[in-house]
Amino acid sequence: MAERILRPESQAAQALGRVDDATGAIIPPIHPATTFERDPDLAYSRGRAYARADNPTYAAAADTLTALEGGCRTLLFSSGMAAATAIFLALSPGDHVVVPRVMYWGLRAWLTGFATRWGLTVDLVDMADPAALEAALRPGRTRLVWLESPANPTWDVADIAAVAALTHRAGARLAVDSTVATPVLTRPLELGADLVMHSATKYLNGHSDVIAGTVTTARADEFWERVTAVQVQNGAILGPFEAWLLQRGMRTLFPRVRWQCDTALILAHRLAGHPRVAAVLYPGLPDFPGHALAARQMRGGFGGMLSIRVAGGAPAAVAVAARVGLWTRATSLGGVESLIEHRASVEGPASPVPDDLLRLSVGLEAAEDLWADLEAALEAR
Ligand code: PLP
Repeated sequence: MAERILRPESQAAQALGRVDDATGAIIPPIHPATTFERDPDLAYSRGRAYARADNPTYAAAADTLTALEGGCRTLLFSSGMAAATAIFLALSPGDHVVVPRVMYWGLRAWLTGFATRWGLTVDLVDMADPAALEAALRPGRTRLVWLESPANPTWDVADIAAVAALTHRAGARLAVDSTVATPVLTRPLELGADLVMHSATKYLNGHSDVIAGTVTTARADEFWERVTAVQVQNGAILGPFEAWLLQRGMRTLFPRVRWQCDTALILAHRLAGHPRVAAVLYPGLPDFPGHALAARQMRGGFGGMLSIRVAGGAPAAVAVAARVGLWTRATSLGGVESLIEHRASVEGPASPVPDDLLRLSVGLEAAEDLWADLEAALEAR
């Protein structure tokens, strides 16, 4: 019988349908072993030597994500930052990279601080402007272009296929931070990206109880070997228990993200009509600048993240966040519980983020409850 190719929803729900060979358990065991037995002739015929390089528990989560992203291989890291920085550290001092002006602030701070001191030349550009990207690319010197789409916390959507074409023409690689889109909504490798990275702390795990990062590659080439070497030598690995939790979280990725998209769209429309809201930033709104692109590039939803700019400036925004009850004031995103955050006070004065902006991470609560809480916080004096 011909093997049926399963849809990603089915691959995620069954975590590739693997049953433990030794016991028949339908849930994989957790292997805490740090070291593996060597043969009398000193070979490792069972394929594993030491858990800084490999552990069977990693494989279950890594292979599931490889399938969901349509990639070739995945590495699991101890955090999203460890995953992202491993890609840059696989370059060489003197290399040039182009990154978005608006992106996850922690990585931007690392790039303009550590990476620049280490010897990378870093240009920040508006990725929605192809002319700006083209002008920044230095053929023969630019080795990597970094994209984040939608970009945290303004949710600007970048045209991955167009950026991939420009990047490849300049002889560089494209890596995409797809944390917010998740493989449910966008598969960057199919659009021409070479690498896709996630803060798996967010939607992939989805329960705010694991810090993890991932990188998936389109091909196992020499650059992938270098990323792998950075991970193994620097030791930025995920623990087996966290890998197991991540695998469990990914099994419900599709229904969680779809629910979060539906609720975010409802809230975005209602917030857009509220007199105390100066602007709503959400790719699903028809007047959002990247809406047409998002409708083309994101399948089946516009994500569970949105931001509002509160009328009355920073003090009014901070006051709204102070008054919510169901929404929790906390950083991070992509969990089952809804979070609200005043970003400027987190990112500091170097941030391009407006100081009246509140970031909303939509969880799995009822849309009506989330709306009632937000509406009351906006309307109270
Ligand atoms: N990328 C994005 C888009 C993020 O939002 C974050 C964290 O907020 C990161 C990367 C970094 O991930 P981690 O906190 O897992 O290191």
